[in-house]
Amino acid sequence: MPETYRNLIDGELVTTDTTMEVLNPANEQVVGLVPACGKDELDRAVAAARRAFKTWSKTPVDDRRKVIQAIAGVIQENGEELFRLLTTEQGKPHSQAQMEIFGAAGLVAAQSTLNLEDVINEDSDTRLSRTRRVPVGVVGGIVPWNFPVMMAMQKIAPALLSGCTIVLKPSPFTPLTTLRIAELIKDVVPAGVVNVITGEDSLGPLITEHPDIDKITFTGSTATGKKIMEGASKDLKRITLELGGNDASIVLPDADVAKVAEQLFWSSFSNAGQICVAAKRIYIHEDIYDELSQAIADYAKTVKVGDGSEQGTGVGPIQNKKQFDRVCELIEDARSNGYKFLVGGEVDPSGSGYYVPITILDNPPEDARIVAEEQFGPVMPLMKFSTDDEVIARANNSDYGLAGAVWTKDTERGVKIAEQLETGTVWVNEFLHLSPFAPFGGHKQSGFGAEYGIEGLKEFTYAQVITVKRDAMV
Ligand code: NAD
Repeated sequence: MPETYRNLIDGELVTTDTTMEVLNPANEQVVGLVPACGKDELDRAVAAARRAFKTWSKTPVDDRRKVIQAIAGVIQENGEELFRLLTTEQGKPHSQAQMEIFGAAGLVAAQSTLNLEDVINEDSDTRLSRTRRVPVGVVGGIVPWNFPVMMAMQKIAPALLSGCTIVLKPSPFTPLTTLRIAELIKDVVPAGVVNVITGEDSLGPLITEHPDIDKITFTGSTATGKKIMEGASKDLKRITLELGGNDASIVLPDADVAKVAEQLFWSSFSNAGQICVAAKRIYIHEDIYDELSQAIADYAKTVKVGDGSEQGTGVGPIQNKKQFDRVCELIEDARSNGYKFLVGGEVDPSGSGYYVPITILDNPPEDARIVAEEQFGPVMPLMKFSTDDEVIARANNSDYGLAGAVWTKDTERGVKIAEQLETGTVWVNEFLHLSPFAPFGGHKQSGFGAEYGIEGLKEFTYAQVITVKRDAMV
């Protein structure tokens, strides 16, 4: 019998009469049962968060910092148990699950050091004007399934530091590790400050539209982001939306083929391609296209696809059946249009687990679905380009604007191209690196607002300006 995990509401571990099954995507076996919350449980969690807000928002920031640091410590200390559980529910290889768990502990610790200082707007004989940041209140956090722990923690840590309390909803596909962390931090965090509740997707709109939640911080698909915006508009909740991406990586002709092939591979295939900021379109200059595409293909053939808990696995299964079907559909579309496969392309439907082979396409047209859409799976198109202006236009020809990368020995030229990309993040000669001290956020339909850094922290606050007229009463 799989273990039943409990929710954290008002400092208590609780469950519901009905539960939901969580599957291991490597073999489709049930690995846990979680509460299926509805309006009643949400109301209780929000009421607890509201009560806790009164005290927590007045708690000195250095005391709040200590609680956040204690959360980081709990994750760190229980890292081995947590990363193994994460692989079981999410599918990612152990090495990548380790990076997520210990990375999340590091992120939480780093975020605890941020400071939101007051700003003096005017200090004259006439008046003193000061801007202070005030916590917005109760936050609703909604999280996807690709980096369940990292995404949960990048919402919890700044919410708590700012003085807010939070009701967090993990994805129904990957709630287990987050619930285990909730259990572990139960006695570290004051009751009601962090509440974690699980439910189907239908719980999401109840959170978005809840009249006693002040802000939504959401990471997930652009389609859901639009629904969140609509739901939150009813009472003009503040929202932060971290949505999808179709990031372009641009490889200039002077790039060192031997050095970049492996890095380009992992920029697309880490987490089986299920990363919002994965390279989803790789543009290679025509002078090195043949050599580099062959080098990437050769490297790809050395990487093992399999169960993430097995030694040596580099690419795990797709996390869930819905996403598996979508990726298979995109591969089928490429095949039916006669696009050339450099590697992979044959999905074996027999056996259990949502496995898609590493698939690389050779120069499909710009309007191919595999190029124009966010694939979110281990399928990457390589495309040829001739000039900087052409590739910049092609990279920007997207409704998304999340991130991108440029690869070159000439960093000045790389930065010049980076500055012309319409995205929130651009890397030159690296990929996927996010700093806890730099804002991360999208442009266009990749969302708005930021996470990380001071900008991310400010999202949990509003600006209050206090102006004192000097000598007015004397
Ligand atoms: P999703 O939008 O389907 O689900 C995300 C969360 O929203 C889940 O918890 C889900 O239960 C909830 N939800 C579903 N319908 C809802 C509704 N109507 N109202 C409120 N909540 C609702 O996304 P997903 O499939 O879990 O994640 C994949 C997507 O997330 C990809 O598009 C990816 O690019 C994006 N993503 C973005 C970032 C980023 O930082 N920009 C990071 C990771 C993933």
